[in-house]
Amino acid sequence: MIPNNLANPQEVILTGDRATGPLHLGHYVGSLKQRVALQKDHEQTILVADMQGLTDNAFNPAKVSSNILNVVADYLAVGIDPKQTTLCLQSQLPALAELTMYYSNLVSVARLQRNPTVKAEVKDKNFERGIPAGFLTYPISQAADITGFNATIVPVGEDQIPMLEQTNEIVRKINALAGGEILKECRPMLSKVPRLPSTDGKAKMSKSLGNAINLGASEQEIRVAVKSMYTDPSHLRVEDPGQTEGNVVFTYLEAFHPDQGYVDRLKVQYRQGGLGDGTTKTILEECLQEVLRPIRQKRAEFLDDKGQLIELLKAGSDIAREKTEQVMFDVRGVFGLNIFS
Ligand code: ATP
Ligand code: MG
Repeated sequence: MIPNNLANPQEVILTGDRATGPLHLGHYVGSLKQRVALQKDHEQTILVADMQGLTDNAFNPAKVSSNILNVVADYLAVGIDPKQTTLCLQSQLPALAELTMYYSNLVSVARLQRNPTVKAEVKDKNFERGIPAGFLTYPISQAADITGFNATIVPVGEDQIPMLEQTNEIVRKINALAGGEILKECRPMLSKVPRLPSTDGKAKMSKSLGNAINLGASEQEIRVAVKSMYTDPSHLRVEDPGQTEGNVVFTYLEAFHPDQGYVDRLKVQYRQGGLGDGTTKTILEECLQEVLRPIRQKRAEFLDDKGQLIELLKAGSDIAREKTEQVMFDVRGVFGLNIFS
């Protein structure tokens, strides 16, 4: 694992997001900022995972199709530069689906059911009675995404660690079958905020749980979200000592405030008593308004020219298609099936 530092320039970076909604503050601190920092010195691909989005939205496909360009606009708004990062669309890279089919033969259903992130999501989505096969197997498709680019570093949030473990198991199986290194193992790159909680503190901030502050949130939406944030329920009066651990306002101040020395002083005061939640929330709201104002504005500008976003994604997908086809050829070769060449 590579905690919170930059990888060496030989590393190949692949990461992505499901097109299930606009991106939020969890993406920003969990992965997007790392990607912006990495793109200058590394080969980096970002995949908009539309097919993976369908694994739990197949009967509401418009949710996925209508969010593809939102996600691209979010990337550009936070500083992803399409000249430095290849932006591509999963459904337009058929080699990834083919790789998924080959890898599926190497993974047991029991192994998929044991994946802790999948387990938690099955519960959240009420899939206990009938899990779509595509959903259960999405870690395999994610292994195809990562290996399809020969990626060695994957900047992700904490929930993705089990996916990377499964990817490496598949890599080892393919390499054992091949008798040599056909695929490379990957490592997660976690940020200093690997799991941003939702404003109620109950879950991870997620597009699908409806608990997110989006990068395009309006001033009013930010205000309302901060006002409703979970703090310390036993901190009733301003003069009472309060807890900062598990207090979402402080978690966000640690994640987003530019002056961490100031945040440390606030924490001391809050623990001693004498600092009210109204004040800490006002400080946080100002900070989030500052962070999101320029992003919201750029995002709206990019969304004004959807044709340009489609062109970008198409050009990146053309580059990505070639890379993934090469890996696909190598993997098919491991199974002795390149009989026409
Ligand atoms: P969905 O609810 O549809 O699964 P999501 O909000 O979980 O959406 P994903 O597209 O699944 O977002 O995740 C994209 C990337 O962002 C992954 O690397 C994931 O770990 C990271 N990420 C998502 N939410 C958070 C969060 N709250 N904190 C840190 N990282 C996050
Ligand atoms: Mg997710």
